Amino acid sequence: MLVLLLGALGLQPGWTQPNALPSLGNSEGISLGAERQLGDRIARELYRDPDYLEDPVLDEYIQRLWAPLIKAAAARGELSTDLQERFAWRILLGRDRSVNAFALPGGYLGVHLGLIAVVTSHDELASVLAHELSHVTQRHIARSIDEQAKMTPWVIGSMILGAIAISKNPQAAQGLIVGGQAAAIQSQLSYSRDMEREADRVGYGILADAGYDPQGFVGMFAKLQQAAGVNDNGAFPYLRSHPLTTERIADMQARLQLNSATPRAGGDMVQAMLAARARVMSQNSVEALKAWTQDGKATSPQATAAQQAGALYAATLAHLQLRDMTAAERSWQRLSQLTSTSPEAKRLTLLLQAEVAAKQERFTTALQVLEGLNQAQLPRPELIATAQALLRLPPHPARASITQKLREQVTQAPHDAQAWNTLASMLALQGQSLPSLRAEGEAQMARMDWSGAVDRFRAAQDWAQNNRLQAGDHIEASIVDTRLRQAQAQIRAMQAER
Ligand SMILES: [Zn+2]
Repeated sequence: MLVLLLGALGLQPGWTQPNALPSLGNSEGISLGAERQLGDRIARELYRDPDYLEDPVLDEYIQRLWAPLIKAAAARGELSTDLQERFAWRILLGRDRSVNAFALPGGYLGVHLGLIAVVTSHDELASVLAHELSHVTQRHIARSIDEQAKMTPWVIGSMILGAIAISKNPQAAQGLIVGGQAAAIQSQLSYSRDMEREADRVGYGILADAGYDPQGFVGMFAKLQQAAGVNDNGAFPYLRSHPLTTERIADMQARLQLNSATPRAGGDMVQAMLAARARVMSQNSVEALKAWTQDGKATSPQATAAQQAGALYAATLAHLQLRDMTAAERSWQRLSQLTSTSPEAKRLTLLLQAEVAAKQERFTTALQVLEGLNQAQLPRPELIATAQALLRLPPHPARASITQKLREQVTQAPHDAQAWNTLASMLALQGQSLPSLRAEGEAQMARMDWSGAVDRFRAAQDWAQNNRLQAGDHIEASIVDTRLRQAQAQIRAMQAER
């Protein structure tokens, strides 16, 4: 991604001058620890970006695509235990409609809704993730940051953040980073042609081993190639950071001939629905919303079932945002008929129904729909949506069990800020003030907002001093003390870095 920004600045892009870049294997770059630290610094800012998006449905989709890739990379020996343990492995969604995905230092990835919106199969989306994952496992970022430059992590972090900002708005970028400094970024923070080809090669192997159709790469390349021909307005920043050369295309075609995979027949209905969700959520001006409600594909006999489902999902969500509930119900009914035979598409349809009901403040209905979905495990989107409905309803028998499920969720995924926040609200509702304040602090810790965490943990300490503690509160109070010290240590470490 980094390179791209430089392209947006009107500078000569890094990939046209290979001599400016460290060649593969020539430089070890920065250490794992330093890279993770740098990634934390960048991610901390991204969590505070207004475009940062927590959407349980899209989060789950990306995670489900991602998990088999990580597993395959480890099985192939591309991902060492060390790297697996020390890097963050977190994917941050951005509401931005530009087609972009990028690997950040330390195992963080960014995915823009614009990318999810343009791909037509989950294999294509997985191919982008596999390529980005390979940039991380091959330590391309570390190797691109030349220690000779003597830039402090703070400066590098600022540059990368600047680069991300520019990728969202190329027009506003002019003059943001000027002169010699821009040249320095250009040579320090870009992938070389060789790195791109390596990420394709390694990514292809990971994608295939993870059980995806390697044709996903071809579909993605075709989209990027088409975009390169018709589109130079910055809507495809991914292209500038990962330039699609004829060599890359030829390499990929050679690989596919060896593998001779057959393209998957039919459309990918689930991807079409989630692409629709991404489209509507990334572009929600009234005009855009009205356009989604009138998509001809919803009724066109030429459209595939997947295209129709995508158009109807988008129309339902757009009507909902426009607060036209009757029209939303109508689109949803048609979607529901179309998706009834595919279990996963049907599940997404029911989650959307719960969303429609909640938006109308019909929380009992939302809860009934969610209960209909309720499998024994209660996947995260159902769990969060159920809790959100319960928060708006009078005392309900499910409160205790959902609170317990949220506790299990944060135990298993301590960085799940949204689950911590939801748990905090559920606990507050049940008069469990101390655990609720601690959960608020944990949510801030998960987003690496150390000052915010200190504030919440101090509030928890104050509460503990001024109230009679209930059973279990003593343990909570001592956890709060420990976590407060940890948050304070993080603040000191951050100050020392500057
Ligand atoms: Zn790349």
